[in-house]
Amino acid sequence: MDQENDSEIRRDYRTGFFSIIVPGRSKRPHELEEDKANENLAECPFEPQNILENLKIMHVGEPWKIMVIKNKFPELNGNTPLMERGGFFSSISGYGYNEIVIESPDHGAKFENMSIEQLNGWLDVLIEREQQLYLRKYIKYVQIFRNYGVDAGASIGHPHTQIMAWPIVIGNIKRRLRIAVDYKSKNNSCLYEDAVKKETARNLYSNSTFDAVAPFASRITAESLIIPKRHINSMIEMTQEEKTGLSDMLKRIVSVNKLLFGAQSYNILFYELKDQPDFHMHVEVLPRLSTLAGVELGQNVFVNTVVPEQYAAEFKSKLSGA
Ligand SMILES: [Zn+2]
Ligand SMILES: [Zn+2]
Repeated sequence: MDQENDSEIRRDYRTGFFSIIVPGRSKRPHELEEDKANENLAECPFEPQNILENLKIMHVGEPWKIMVIKNKFPELNGNTPLMERGGFFSSISGYGYNEIVIESPDHGAKFENMSIEQLNGWLDVLIEREQQLYLRKYIKYVQIFRNYGVDAGASIGHPHTQIMAWPIVIGNIKRRLRIAVDYKSKNNSCLYEDAVKKETARNLYSNSTFDAVAPFASRITAESLIIPKRHINSMIEMTQEEKTGLSDMLKRIVSVNKLLFGAQSYNILFYELKDQPDFHMHVEVLPRLSTLAGVELGQNVFVNTVVPEQYAAEFKSKLSGA
């Protein structure tokens, strides 16, 4: 353990929001652009021959089809002692875990071209790691996200998903939980189930287990919100049919967005919690067609120049071709 290099989750006295201060991140790999995705394979750390043995956690298949490794550049570290500091400069030490799920040994594999079986296998691995990480001491929240492309913050072009296990429930997930719990207590119904019923003008696509909508106050262009029809708190509770439903949803949304906007960076964000009965899990796909600027950073208010209803109409027009 190296105290000097440990990260720290610091609370901002101006806003109550948190930042993770991570020393030494300038050593991260350089970004690869989409059109260079098949270059520099010798340097790609996720190529089968390049994966360091001491980072490997688990894999599926021989030779592997999906590989889980420790993140070599973690924001949180399981060797950091858990410590909380109160007062004006309040913080919590950067205890936790960062894992990477490498989705294919093939550097050029595209999410939208993966089969439903492959995507279900990917979800199975995410769920298995999520369950394992929740068993670790002091872990309160396991976050899953997929960054694709330079504008979405992906520093490596090889297809992968990230898992981050936090010692504290803060930020967006905490806010969403509170709003869902308040809604339930006032309305005696579930916010996300009501959203699906009310968002019919902005429905994107529905299958037997999931609905997707372009939310009323979409923060960015072509934002989509994916909601399971059944009230579940996390992916851990999903049935096989629901896994297939979520795979189908994600594959379609990423495919249609590519038809609409061409190759683009995007984030897939999973919002799930364990043991929070009022929370209804959901997933977002956020194409990164514009950058955050003064209004967003200054006010934390997003400017979206495409009406969500228009995106929904365009999405539906391309759906049959995806
Ligand atoms: Zn690679
Ligand atoms: Zn619900």
